[in-house]
Amino acid sequence: MKNVTVIKLGGATFGKGDTTIADIAALQQRGESLVVVHGGGSAVTAWLKKQGVETRFVHGERVTDLPALEVATAVLAGLANKEIAAAINVSGGRAVGISGADGALIEARQKAKDMGYVGETVRLNTALLTTLLGAGFVPVVAPISLYAVGRPDKAPALINANGDPVAGDIAAAMKATRLIFLTDVAGILDESGKPIAELSAGEAEKLIKSGVIKGGMIPKVNAALRALEAGAVARIIDGRRRHALLAEFDGGDGGTTIHK
Ligand code: ADP
Ligand code: MG
Repeated sequence: MKNVTVIKLGGATFGKGDTTIADIAALQQRGESLVVVHGGGSAVTAWLKKQGVETRFVHGERVTDLPALEVATAVLAGLANKEIAAAINVSGGRAVGISGADGALIEARQKAKDMGYVGETVRLNTALLTTLLGAGFVPVVAPISLYAVGRPDKAPALINANGDPVAGDIAAAMKATRLIFLTDVAGILDESGKPIAELSAGEAEKLIKSGVIKGGMIPKVNAALRALEAGAVARIIDGRRRHALLAEFDGGDGGTTIHK
């Protein structure tokens, strides 16, 4: 598979007037091989509330018990995934929505005992992605994974994962040429709030240690570092800008590039 681009859609950028879906359809028509990965933490939170499922947070991450896993699966691998795939399909693209459990794409294990059903990737099986790309589809991947490693007998076969590491893992496994994170800031910001145009892996690690990179940006940078190791270029761009994705393929200005 040549020249694959992995695109991570941020929860915050997917909304009214968003041009990302139209851009994905247009890029596919130009012959680009795209894999889309999405999150949807805020939608999961809203649906947990609607269902009256209480959850707690540890170190900023949601503890996922069985009821929360069921809602996360319904929302991420169901509603969010189908909305994105359908939106691409009505915009002239050809998309198929899958989860990490389909085709055993993402084999995961429990990340930490006290986090419940929160998974981390152990192994990827990219056959389904190559099949879909080869047949001319954009795979749209929800980060619900297959609980395949270290699973107690009675535990579910599904496990919830963060979309950022999943995007990095897929980029690495597919030997993608680039990994693009669409998010709700102008790029990685320095301590004075100015976007940083270019960062080496070492500089990015320092900014995490010093606390300049924090919260939701940390998993993106860590995922970017993993993809870099496999030869991709990682970009973190402002998904709120109109046609940010098209601009990215036409040279790209703004945002942050992370390289080796
Ligand atoms: P997404 O839905 O795209 O995953 P997140 O909220 O998880 O969005 O991650 C993006 C957020 O990371 C930004 O909105 C910002 O609040 C936070 N962040 C932390 N440190 C930085 C930094 N140094 N530069 C830019 N954003 C940062
Ligand atoms: Mg996030």
